[in-house]
Amino acid sequence: MHEMSLAEGVMGVIEDAQRAAPNGADWVVRTVRLEIGQLAAVEVQALRFAFDVVKHDTVANAAVLEVIDMPGTAWCMKCGDTVAIAQRGDGCPQCGSHQLQVTAGDELRVKDIELA
Ligand SMILES: [Zn+2]
Repeated sequence: MHEMSLAEGVMGVIEDAQRAAPNGADWVVRTVRLEIGQLAAVEVQALRFAFDVVKHDTVANAAVLEVIDMPGTAWCMKCGDTVAIAQRGDGCPQCGSHQLQVTAGDELRVKDIELA
C-alpha cells in the first residue's frame, strides 16, 4: 500500500518544518493541510489511516489531516484548450480525443502546517 510511504513523506515534511521553526521543539502540530489531485490515485481513507499510524509518538500526534481535493486538468492538443478530466485515461469532454496531456491533478503536496 503506497499510502504508507506517502504518509511517511508527509511526516518528513512536518519534521523538516518543525526543525526550521524557531523553538521548533516547543511546538505541536495542530493541522496538516494536504492538496491531493484527483488523478493522483491516492486512497484518502488509506492515507488517513497510514498517517494515524506514523504520527503516533511524534510532534504530530494530535494533528488533524485536512485534505483539499485538486481537480484534474489536461491540455487537449485537438481543442488547443485546457479541459477538466476526472481520471487518467478519460477522453476530452469537448471532442473525445485521447491526445491529452495532464497539466494538474496528479500532485500530492503539503499545503501548510499549523503549529501551536
Ligand atoms: Zn478536445
